[in-house]
Amino acid sequence: MYSKGFIVFELGCDIVTILSDLISIESETGNEKALCDKLFDTLKSYDGELIRVKNSLLFNLDLKKDKRVALIGHIDTVPVANSSTTPEIKDDELWGRGSCDMKSGLAVMLKVIDDISIGKIKPKQNLSFVFYENEEGALPNGINFLLDNNYLMDIDFAFVLEPTQSKYSVGCLGSLAVKKDVYGISAHSANPKKGKNALIEATEIVMSVEKMNKLINKDSSIDGLDYYETVNITQLGTTTETFNVIPDHVEIVANFRFSPKRSSNEALEYLLEFLGQDNITILDKADSCYIGDSGNDFLLPNIDREIMQAWTDIAQLNKAGIPSINYGAGSIKYAHKPDERISIDELTEFYKSLVTHL
Ligand SMILES: [Zn+2]
Repeated sequence: MYSKGFIVFELGCDIVTILSDLISIESETGNEKALCDKLFDTLKSYDGELIRVKNSLLFNLDLKKDKRVALIGHIDTVPVANSSTTPEIKDDELWGRGSCDMKSGLAVMLKVIDDISIGKIKPKQNLSFVFYENEEGALPNGINFLLDNNYLMDIDFAFVLEPTQSKYSVGCLGSLAVKKDVYGISAHSANPKKGKNALIEATEIVMSVEKMNKLINKDSSIDGLDYYETVNITQLGTTTETFNVIPDHVEIVANFRFSPKRSSNEALEYLLEFLGQDNITILDKADSCYIGDSGNDFLLPNIDREIMQAWTDIAQLNKAGIPSINYGAGSIKYAHKPDERISIDELTEFYKSLVTHL
């Protein structure tokens, strides 16, 4: 059973019950207040510094240690049709929206706080717990706000508990989205000599980007960890509304997922070699990251490492000078899906493993 209807979460329960409680409170992006309220009310009875910033929370424990480690998780979920906020256990899995992305991580953070309060965990470091809003929406998100307003000071290392199947995700690709406007001259399609068809030039640019993709889209690695770069045309369209007019304007959007070895500026420079320099609008420019050796004091040698083949908030934390990795139970393949679920065994094992890092 879970404690839906109670004013606070009962953190003395097992972790599956805590996760069930979290799933039962809807917290789609932009609608996190109810969950944040309940988390706040729950944590205020625990010893520690509790700070609320809009619908994000920080819970800091100063244990007079040398270093500070943060556990970080977003409290929002995406809206998914046909996914349920009524938790359900089937076989050895817990189903429900956010079960893997990433209320499982929040359940782990809450359980750690409770286990510290009863002396079951004796941390070797000062700890910060960061519950933040608005991760699934457009940037800037809740982490940007906390970074920009200096709430995440003095953190030596951070674990972001996104689902990684309990591997260390020690880097991620960057993302660049660029719009290119291609202009021609409109004319009657029965008499096109007087015009210039923007689609013809646009097609050449599309092929040029495809050529770039062939050059970059290959197996790459950094310190033996595999990833690949890719660039894709994700939008292409004219603004003409009739069939008998030569189009004078085409919009192309290209999305470049680039290596931790390139900065976002280098990635942009490279992409523009194929898109051309003119009429460019940058829609999204998010750095890649790789922690290199900076996590060695905080990580264990026996846990598998990977580069995440996507962009995540660890890039923003690393850029802000906080060495950070993703490390959490559950598989990203169930995230944002109606059949979202997590293995109860994996979650339980993950908890035991995470605690050894604290
Ligand atoms: Zn997530």
